[in-house]
Amino acid sequence: MRTGLNDMTGKLTIVGFGPGSKEDMTLRAVKAIEDADIVTGYTTYVDILSEFFPNKKYNATGMMKEVERCRMAVRDAMEGLNVAMVSSGDSGIYGMAGIVYQVADELGADIEIEAVPGVTAASMAASLLGAPLMHDTALISLSDLLTPLELIMERVKAASSSDMVICLYNPKSKGRSDHLEKAADIIMSERGPDVPVGVVRNAGRRGESVEVTTLKDIGDVEVDMLSIVIVGNSETYVSKGRMVTPRGYRL
Ligand code: SAH
Repeated sequence: MRTGLNDMTGKLTIVGFGPGSKEDMTLRAVKAIEDADIVTGYTTYVDILSEFFPNKKYNATGMMKEVERCRMAVRDAMEGLNVAMVSSGDSGIYGMAGIVYQVADELGADIEIEAVPGVTAASMAASLLGAPLMHDTALISLSDLLTPLELIMERVKAASSSDMVICLYNPKSKGRSDHLEKAADIIMSERGPDVPVGVVRNAGRRGESVEVTTLKDIGDVEVDMLSIVIVGNSETYVSKGRMVTPRGYRL
C-alpha cells in the first residue's frame, strides 16, 4: 500500500466513460464522476458529460492539448482535489491513461491514481454489428500523428497475414484520407476482396450509423474520425445483416 499521504494529497481517477451514452457507462465510471471535485477532459467529451452531470465543475481543453490537460489534472490532485480525468471509451486504449502516469512521474506527484475501465469503441461497435470479435483481434490506429505511417502499415500487414480480425481506430481524417484505402489494399492482398467489413459511426451517440460492406467496396461507405472499421478474418460471414466470426464451436 502507498504510504506518506497527507490531507493535502488528492486523487486522480482516469475514467473511461464509454462510447457516449449514459447507459453504456459503468457504475464505477458514474460514481467516479459524481465523487469528483473537478472533471477534466477534451471539450467534446465535457460537452457530452455535462448533459448527464449538469452540476459538476468542468475543466475543458481543446484537442492536441493532451499533455497540458494532464499536467493541470495532476497539479489539481497534488493540491488536494479529487479529479476525474475523462476520456471516451476505455481510457487505457488510445486514451489518456498512459500520459497521466508519465506526467505524474514527470511532476514527482505523490497522489493516488486509479484507472476506471470503460466500454471501448471496438466492443460497442461489435455489439451493433453482430459478433465480429469472437476470434483473435488486433486493434490498430491509423493516425500517424504519433506513429510513423510505415510502422502502422507494417502492423496492418502482420495482423493481416496472421488472419486476425482487425479493428481500425482513427480510420480517417481530412488530413489523411488515404490511410484506410492503403490498409484495405494490404488486407485485400491477403484475404481477397469479399471479406466482410463493418463501419460504425457515432456508436452509442446521436447520429449512430451501422453499415456492413466488403473490403473492395469500403470506398463507397462514409468513414470519418467518428467511425470505427472492423475487418473480418477469412472466416467471418454476414447473415441477416449481422457480421459473425465463428470461433469453431460445432453445431
Ligand atoms: N479511448 C477510445 C478511443 C480513442 S481514439 C476508446 O476506447 O474507444 C478515437 C477513435 O476511437 C475514433 O477515431 C474512432 O475510431 C473510435 N471511436 C471512439 N468513440 C467512438 C464511437 N462512439 N463510435 C465509433 N467510433 C468511435
